[in-house]
Amino acid sequence: MRGARRADFVDEGDKTEKAEKARLRIDPVSCEGLGMCAHLAPRLIDLDPWGFPVLPLTDLEGPDRRAAVRAVRACPRRALHVSVE
Ligand code: SF4
Repeated sequence: MRGARRADFVDEGDKTEKAEKARLRIDPVSCEGLGMCAHLAPRLIDLDPWGFPVLPLTDLEGPDRRAAVRAVRACPRRALHVSVE
């Protein structure tokens, strides 16, 4: 997998390497468009003309994943989360 780190692989049960994909998701009902997430993760999150976040459609990796977690933790409305598949 492109850009994956060794630490991104799981499944020790049968020793099969399986990628853990993470994506940034939003609950649009909870979001108030305050923009703190875009301030904390500017490489990942843009704001639309009304101040609401526009999220990346790609999997989170490395520094982007850490920035996404910081944005999730800082969201005052708990509208952001990282989903892992
Ligand atoms: S920090 Fe939370 S409430 Fe503010 S714009 Fe981002 S997702 Fe919405």
